[in-house]
Amino acid sequence: MISFYPGPSRVHDEIPSYVKDAYKAGIMSINHRSPEFVEMSKKTIGLLKKKLSIPKEYTILYTSSATECWEIIAQSLITTKSYHLYSGAFGQKWYEYTKRIRPGATTCAFDREVMPEPALFTFDSDSVICLTHNETSNGTQIPNSLIRAFRKRNPTSLIAVDATSSMAGVVLDFKSADIWFASVQKCFGLPAGLALLICSPAAVQRAKRINEKDHYNSFNFMMEMIAKWQTPFTPNVLGIYLLMRVLEDAKSIRETDRITRARFDAWIKFFDGVKSLNLLTKNKKVRSYTVFPIEAPEAIVSAIKASAKKNGILLGEGYGDLKPTTFRIANFPAITDNEIKTLQRFLKKF
Ligand SMILES: *Cc1c(COP(=O)(O)O)cnc(C)c1O
Repeated sequence: MISFYPGPSRVHDEIPSYVKDAYKAGIMSINHRSPEFVEMSKKTIGLLKKKLSIPKEYTILYTSSATECWEIIAQSLITTKSYHLYSGAFGQKWYEYTKRIRPGATTCAFDREVMPEPALFTFDSDSVICLTHNETSNGTQIPNSLIRAFRKRNPTSLIAVDATSSMAGVVLDFKSADIWFASVQKCFGLPAGLALLICSPAAVQRAKRINEKDHYNSFNFMMEMIAKWQTPFTPNVLGIYLLMRVLEDAKSIRETDRITRARFDAWIKFFDGVKSLNLLTKNKKVRSYTVFPIEAPEAIVSAIKASAKKNGILLGEGYGDLKPTTFRIANFPAITDNEIKTLQRFLKKF
């Protein structure tokens, strides 16, 4: 089965051999307080900073999912006010999870074809502004320049960015925000069960001031432990090992970004030539480079779905209301050129 599912998604070809290596090297049973673990964790964080161009003064924490990151931010970094700017289902879920923990969460939903205008928003100082960099549900993204504009206008607020389906696929301007997170089963091309929470010194300061320590995953406990390259709980040791191995071979994020965009451009050209299939997002400025929903009449979408399965191709379902008239294609780095060709040959028939 060739997977174009936008998460959990195709893993890198080398994963089975890395899992074997992990077993042989005893990684699956190592103690998470042992010097072997500490060395592996330190190396992984170093590789993340190097390969993804994360500023060295930022802290990287291991969590188990993006959903967990939503909760950590709510419990440990938000005092009363958070503002949630989103156009799709994941941004909305983040808002709903936060609201249960911090009732001051405020929704600032916008249309998926619209690029939000920073001048139109006023936020309380000391709040947290929550942005979804790549909205996996509807295939839209916000550019780095927009995050920088929010930063400039709101110097006393923290900016938190969900980059679950774009981190490791495109260049992110980490300096323009305080909190970034992603789980690894999307753009990283790894199995699920691990996520990264990346924080600026300002975020660390804010957490210290709030001093919340009520949960096993309270930010301050995580910070104390990561100073020793560890976690308060037993982490996904195999996941961290696989991440380390994949990063060792990974290209720089600039190079990956170039390939992601070139593939995206090739997809656009392809769909220009197929009459019945169109990109859902019409506004070019908000189109995601890593996930795109394709729109077609309902009969064609159901024919494609049925036939894809028979041909060993796994496509993403359209999300929510869009389900009957769309399907989604992931454009993640682990997907090969040959697989893209196969999918294009298949789609040409419709
Ligand atoms: C998949 C996804 C999530 C949820 O990730 P989990 O690891 O399942 O918690 C959150 N946000 C975005 C944008 C996603 O694509």
